Amino acid sequence: MSFKILSRNMEALKKRYVILIDQATMNLPQIIYFTSKKILKEVWEYMSIITSLAGVSDEDSKDAMKELLCFEANLALYWVPKVSKKYVRITIGKLADALPEFPWLEHLRKVMSKDEKSLTNDNLVVVLANDYLQNMLDLLRKTDKKILSTYVVWRSIKDAVPLLSEKFRAVHQDFKRKLLGSKTNKTREDTCFSYTNNILGPMLGALFIRNAFGPDSKDKVEVMMDGIIRAFKDRVSGVGWIDKQTVQAVKEKADAAVYKVGYPEYLFKEDLFAKRYHELEIKENQWFNNVLSTDWFSNYQLYHKWGNEVDRHQWITVPQLVNAFYVITKNEIVVPAGILQPPFFYANDIPRSLSYGAIGHVLGHELTHGFDTTGRKFDKNGELIEKRTHWSEPAIKMFQERAKCLVEQFSRYKVLNKFHISGEKTLGENIADLGGVNLAYHAYNSFIEKHGQEQVLPELNMTSKELFFIGYAQKECTRTTPLRNSCQSPRMSTPLLNTG
Ligand SMILES: [Zn+2]
Repeated sequence: MSFKILSRNMEALKKRYVILIDQATMNLPQIIYFTSKKILKEVWEYMSIITSLAGVSDEDSKDAMKELLCFEANLALYWVPKVSKKYVRITIGKLADALPEFPWLEHLRKVMSKDEKSLTNDNLVVVLANDYLQNMLDLLRKTDKKILSTYVVWRSIKDAVPLLSEKFRAVHQDFKRKLLGSKTNKTREDTCFSYTNNILGPMLGALFIRNAFGPDSKDKVEVMMDGIIRAFKDRVSGVGWIDKQTVQAVKEKADAAVYKVGYPEYLFKEDLFAKRYHELEIKENQWFNNVLSTDWFSNYQLYHKWGNEVDRHQWITVPQLVNAFYVITKNEIVVPAGILQPPFFYANDIPRSLSYGAIGHVLGHELTHGFDTTGRKFDKNGELIEKRTHWSEPAIKMFQERAKCLVEQFSRYKVLNKFHISGEKTLGENIADLGGVNLAYHAYNSFIEKHGQEQVLPELNMTSKELFFIGYAQKECTRTTPLRNSCQSPRMSTPLLNTG
């Protein structure tokens, strides 16, 4: 099968999950690999060794894999790059009329375990790569059935290779080294951890939050987020260059922003957790079967979403991730528990100034993304409104003019005295960084107004406001190779230069 079927919430159909039909991934990581003879030879050798390890004679496997690579190279010619994909909504019936060679309805029913009543020819699907489907079907018609059957078998073996016994893994490791130049030899512990994290991420997250995070911290961060949103609205009211109509639209969007802090509820509440995972079967000492049953389970969960309303509580990531996001199509800020630890967030008796400077900046940064050059084109529900924007024409003009200052400022910077930064390309992040530190600072001032000054250790000889900036700077401290040295990047210092 050369395409995948997924349930996704689409912007245009955002209330319900729909089936998405797309081209399949290739054997090789990128199309470009098909143009190198050297790489194709490596791949051919790799595939031949693996199939012979799986029991096919050496000669047979070499011939079969050569035919297979030729077939895939032909298929690669029809590959549709991401930028050329179109979102075409079509009923299954119409898709079947256009491409009758494939039993669309029967296949979808089978894959999604749906009966005649629930999935019919009238249901809508979204097709991303139309031309590919037609071309692929033409190619299938012209290709020897023996090659097609080998292809299906190879595709099932291919993904399983890193999960098999030592001799398979050694060949796979060697291949990766040759193809991608990956040199790292992970320890067994690291390998096991990353597999578990990949396939059972939310469950590891459930353990993580029980050990490293708790409802108290979640409450604290939610209060901070409230304060950041309030600071944002205050500042918008005080900005002279935006008219009333625009201020109103911007405030409404800030009020409507959904924020998800720490972890989804079901990972902390035993009954919800049990309900969600009771169909997943994991057994001790059965690694390969466990991977298969996890695969089955995640498909089962995915396909069961079809036709349902989009779950507003759904998380796009696992709690243990050290990062934060703004989801533009949902007007949603996600702050996993992973980032809610030092040096970003201090849960206990450490002065709050440090947390406001660090995680406060992150929260403000993510909120500001909702109003940066891209974010402002989406409304409070995350719908793309570009032309029907609630911002007034003069406000958009003023916004663009001010944004230009940042573009020019950052274009003047060089990293390592050599590489020019593109002010244009980094604009969204630079707006978010500048907005973020302003919002966090104002939210911290309101915090002090409400709760009084914080105590600072007498020997420290620093004010709380100074500690705010220590927190801000400390969260970015990293040790990296010279080429990636972020201390030479103006990202941290520039927002402070620009803050009045
Ligand atoms: Zn960002």
